[in-house]
Amino acid sequence: MLFPALDQAKDTAADAEAIRFGEQRLTYRDVTSATSALAADLPPRQTRVAIWAVKGVETVLASVAALRAGVPAVPVNPAVGERELTHILTDSAPEAILCAPDVELPAECAGLRRIDVTTDHAPAPAPAARLADDDPGLVVYTSGTTGPPKGVVLSRGAIAATLDALADAWQWTADDVVVHALPLFHVHGLILGMLGPLRRGGTAHHIGRFDPHSLGEAITAHPGRQVVTFGVPTMYHRLAQAMASDADLAATISTARLLISGSAPLPVRDHEHITAACGQQVIERYGMTETLMNTSVRVDGPRRPGTVGVALPGMRLRIVDEDGVPIETRDDETIGEIQVRGASLFSGYLNRPDATAESFDGDWFRTGDMATMDADGFVRIVGRKATDLIKCGGYKIGAGEIENALLEHPHVAEVAVTSEPDADLGERIVAWVVANGEPDAMAGTGGAEGQPSATELTEHVGRLLASHKRPHEVRFVDSLPRNELGKVTKRSLHAPGA
Ligand code: ATP
Ligand code: MG
Repeated sequence: MLFPALDQAKDTAADAEAIRFGEQRLTYRDVTSATSALAADLPPRQTRVAIWAVKGVETVLASVAALRAGVPAVPVNPAVGERELTHILTDSAPEAILCAPDVELPAECAGLRRIDVTTDHAPAPAPAARLADDDPGLVVYTSGTTGPPKGVVLSRGAIAATLDALADAWQWTADDVVVHALPLFHVHGLILGMLGPLRRGGTAHHIGRFDPHSLGEAITAHPGRQVVTFGVPTMYHRLAQAMASDADLAATISTARLLISGSAPLPVRDHEHITAACGQQVIERYGMTETLMNTSVRVDGPRRPGTVGVALPGMRLRIVDEDGVPIETRDDETIGEIQVRGASLFSGYLNRPDATAESFDGDWFRTGDMATMDADGFVRIVGRKATDLIKCGGYKIGAGEIENALLEHPHVAEVAVTSEPDADLGERIVAWVVANGEPDAMAGTGGAEGQPSATELTEHVGRLLASHKRPHEVRFVDSLPRNELGKVTKRSLHAPGA
């Protein structure tokens, strides 16, 4: 049972707040009755439904209704372009599309039965479907950071397993209010941010657009409850900046039980700025659409900024070399690819048996992420194999390590490190830098003015890291290309004139 608090709501718990979305508030009783009614309207279990996943309570109700009825649901990013939308609809072939009543669907959805999601409806009995852990629950498309998005089939059991593993690592209970502003068509916002609190019997509070002050207001909106925030690194970066000049905000943020970050690496510099401003140490966790959550820093263990913590219960991790041989060395230097197996792995890519087969080494899923693992099992991600592993002069270097070092320079606002072919070295290291003309208020340094020179930055890296990790070229840019989760889309960074 995915949502015991909905399916077995005792009268007392039924009045508890399940979802807050802007001004809207829904109790467990409201969610149970709205989703029972909606479930009765859905097509048969052998089909699939799409969900037009706006940031709204309708997206949550649609997902929960589909999961309670056992009809696999495909959340669709309402902002995807025509080409991607056509790809997703053709690939997943939904029977109907669920959306908020005020949504105007694009022409690509014209052939689909539309089911409006509302909170007023005739009473309906709870769905009676007999559901198994192996049954498909959701089909979630990957972010498309490294190629066209792939449909990832997630079983009900995998969704339950990942949420329970996180509950163990974070001591996550019905007492927690999870506050966030995440999009609802990816694992992070939908499964962790909305379905997670509903599985625990607690409250999900979505604040719409992210803004540090709305986050602060939301934290104070639940007196007597404990608040946990979920965010991506760009949000915590903005929060750190805002707290540096707003002591009241910092005081509010310090009252949260936990601040949790994921979806992309949180630079060590941001970890430090947040701790300096409000005393909190951000908890980082690491996961993927295909595997759900793999690791997390644990509440009952040491917090190590710059690492994504240790394997979650039910998940096993290994680091392998280029030949797929497990690396036994446990230190902070030896880089290999992370492979995982365990309870929250996906059932396969939709319509892509080839890609599914290729992504496994026996039972082990090849994450494509490169990392080190130390003697205590702490994992430090250095980047992706496809875009972030630089082979230069016989060394293997993770772009993430150089990025973290560059971010420690007070005049570097944002950075992405890539590589380009080089006749001598194999590959050369290129740093794309958004300079921070103003001295960085949070770093507490002042004096220097204007843009740093390329030499200054390469020397800075040379002081922090081994000399072979110095960038060969620094390219100053106005901004970095990022997707809606704030991930840098490195494949759209091209050399000038290339
Ligand atoms: P695609 O697979 O379509 O190229 P994607 O890999 O970005 O896109 P997701 O499944 O949403 O799609 O993202 C998973 C990836 O995000 C991981 O493989 C990892 O590279 C990155 N990631 C997630 N959490 C963290 C973290 N805490 N630190 C570093 N990287 C992370
Ligand atoms: Mg991926």
